[in-house]
Amino acid sequence: MIELESGESVRAAAAVNCAGLYADEVAHLAGEDPVTVYPRKGEFLVFSAPADEALEQILLPVPSSLGKGVLVFPTIDRQVIAGPTAREREDKGDWSVEGDAVDLILPLALRMYPPLARASQVGAYAGLRPAGRDANYVIEASRTVPGLMHVAAIRSTGLSASLGIGEHVAGMLADQGFVALGPDRPLPALAQPSSVRPWWERAATHHGTSASSPLAR
Ligand SMILES: Cc1cc2nc3c(=O)[nH]c(=O)nc-3n(C[C@H](O)[C@H](O)[C@H](O)COP(=O)(O)OP(=O)(O)OC[C@H]3O[C@@H](n4cnc5c(N)ncnc54)[C@H](O)[C@@H]3O)c2cc1C
Repeated sequence: MIELESGESVRAAAAVNCAGLYADEVAHLAGEDPVTVYPRKGEFLVFSAPADEALEQILLPVPSSLGKGVLVFPTIDRQVIAGPTAREREDKGDWSVEGDAVDLILPLALRMYPPLARASQVGAYAGLRPAGRDANYVIEASRTVPGLMHVAAIRSTGLSASLGIGEHVAGMLADQGFVALGPDRPLPALAQPSSVRPWWERAATHHGTSASSPLAR
């Protein structure tokens, strides 16, 4: 039985704790402490594309031991994005773009895509990677609640790995007899977003930060 904040209860044969930044806190509800999750902030700058030299591909530097580095990529609505940064932080509620983000991102982005010097920055936003203290990719069955799986501290590469992680976790639950894997069923239709503002403006206003951040120029 899963109790929701609303007071409702949901009965489920199996449940997956994949609460990102809060996966450690959800695990605490089950009396467990598989990993401590902290935010690893990544900031992006949004530019309107320079008219004279369109960017048609994702520009990625050679990765280093620190990560994949700063990339520059076009969006389907013809913006150009540069980023991200990677900063170890403590506050899970701090989605702000910090004052030196431009200084950290722009020189690296310009090296790969010089026309960015003629582009105007129209926005900036930040994401928080759910990073694990001492361990990442903590995927394990609960020791206290039968049918509960923890999928925590999927710090980076989680988007690319999501289908594989999902398949792996479903397989673990099936192996333990909590779910039976059957033929695909259609997913319920997702609600359409009520806002028609550009996605990067919505991202920038996520958690109360402003699209017209101090970095927009
Ligand atoms: C700047 C940045 C750049 C990245 N670049 C890449 C990349 O290039 N390639 C890549 O593969 N990955 C990338 N990632 C990593 C990727 O976003 C993460 O690995 C992935 O989102 C982790 O997935 P998750 O499901 O564990 O957590 P999340 O995606 O954070 O999802 C957790 C969900 O749980 C919800 N939730 C939290 N608490 C509760 C609760 N108590 N009850 C109910 N729901 C709750 C949240 O609202 C959220 O919807 C990047 C991340 C950032 C921030």
